[in-house]
Amino acid sequence: MVSAGGGRHFLPGSPVISVEEALERILSYVDVLEPEEKPLLDTLGQVLAGDAVAAFNIPPLDNTAMDGYAVRSRDTAGAGPDKPVELRVTGEVAAGYIYDGAVEPGTAVRIMTGAPIPRGADAIVPFEETDEPFEKAPSGSHRTEATVRVFKQAKPGANIRRAGEDVREGQTVVPAGTVLRPQEIGALASLGRDKVRVIRRPVVAVLSTGDELVEVGQPKPPGKIYDSNAYSVATLIARFGGIPRLLGIASDTVASLTERIRRGLDADMLITSAGVSRGDYDVVKDVLAREGEVAFWTVAMKPGKPLAFGCFYSPARGGSASGGGERRIPHIGLPGNPVSSMVAFELFGRPAILKMMGKNDWERPRLRAVAEERIVNRNDPRVFYARCVVTVRDGRYYVSLTGPQGSGILTSMVQANALTVIPADVDVVEPGEEIDVIMLDWSHGEEWGQATNSLSQRG
Ligand code: AMP
Ligand code: MG
Repeated sequence: MVSAGGGRHFLPGSPVISVEEALERILSYVDVLEPEEKPLLDTLGQVLAGDAVAAFNIPPLDNTAMDGYAVRSRDTAGAGPDKPVELRVTGEVAAGYIYDGAVEPGTAVRIMTGAPIPRGADAIVPFEETDEPFEKAPSGSHRTEATVRVFKQAKPGANIRRAGEDVREGQTVVPAGTVLRPQEIGALASLGRDKVRVIRRPVVAVLSTGDELVEVGQPKPPGKIYDSNAYSVATLIARFGGIPRLLGIASDTVASLTERIRRGLDADMLITSAGVSRGDYDVVKDVLAREGEVAFWTVAMKPGKPLAFGCFYSPARGGSASGGGERRIPHIGLPGNPVSSMVAFELFGRPAILKMMGKNDWERPRLRAVAEERIVNRNDPRVFYARCVVTVRDGRYYVSLTGPQGSGILTSMVQANALTVIPADVDVVEPGEEIDVIMLDWSHGEEWGQATNSLSQRG
């Protein structure tokens, strides 16, 4: 239950709360979702639900790290550039095959990288240290009556990769809780896993509210604006691994809002935008309070101070975490202004999605960057998340703002790659002073992989 006293009371709200407090409260109502089994190729960015333990060694057998000749190292004793040792070549073995015979004294077997070491051999002499008589022979040819001249003494074990040197049978290769990156996915493939259990990605319903909004692609009557928040918020959700589900636009009426919100109740989270500032407050408050429970907070941040947070309840689906036959659907009511909604999503929506996905490291790294201009936050007891451009020169980070910072100026976000974090008690930052910045994009495109639907179709 949300409040201490039990029952569906309003969340205990306070008039002004810090960003940290708002986040803590939101996350306390957000549960990690249940696991699902998925094709390995579709698990990028998801969290592994159980330890992946190796059932065999990798590599399975001792094998060669080089193309060359498998030899008995003792046979090469004393070999040098001017006094090569001659060995009779008795066969050849490629990666993926086991050599039938053995390397007897005075003989060698031609061997390709990755091939298991033939019995009797204890070292590999690379081609570069021989006269390589087979160089021009077509591959797979079985010329066996040649001799190879070895120009360097081989140490026992030279160029041999040991069985299990990557992974030992019984070893936990990827522990539960790991975020799967390409290297973990490769490691799981090396264990032969074609399906893995990962924490499910949340379905996040996105609802825009406001009589002034029209859907993109439609004609725009005078006085109306296109709904941009649904698009920026939906793609932010996708970028961090959620699955956005657009509910469209609700007008500022009880009936419209109620109807749209109910459509979103089979999602894992609902994100609305607008309707939380003074003008539409009452309609939204009434609807949310009747359908679930909600608190309206003033968060000490600029932009985006009004924020609604609450929960809806719907009958539990299989395996839900809420218990008691009900499923809890957290609701974040973002401010309407396009920049405010994106910044508030960054601070609250992103961590909530990451937590649902089983990730516990949602803190963005912060950099210290040198201000290239004066930044004023006077008479405003709020943390200032200004849209900015961070550049690096001579190993130092520099930060400049993206022009006018009004919370309706979405183009200030278009140019930005970072947000400043100017504390509430700092009135002015002078050029040359260092401030904290949160990087939003380190390089373009790096997170696109998560937004794709399925990688597992085969051509
Ligand atoms: P509100 O929170 O409803 O007072 O909205 C604040 C401002 O954000 C108003 O100027 C709205 O027109 C604008 N706004 C609200 N929702 C959207 C949206 N989905 N897309 C673009 N602008 C919006
Ligand atoms: Mg409005």
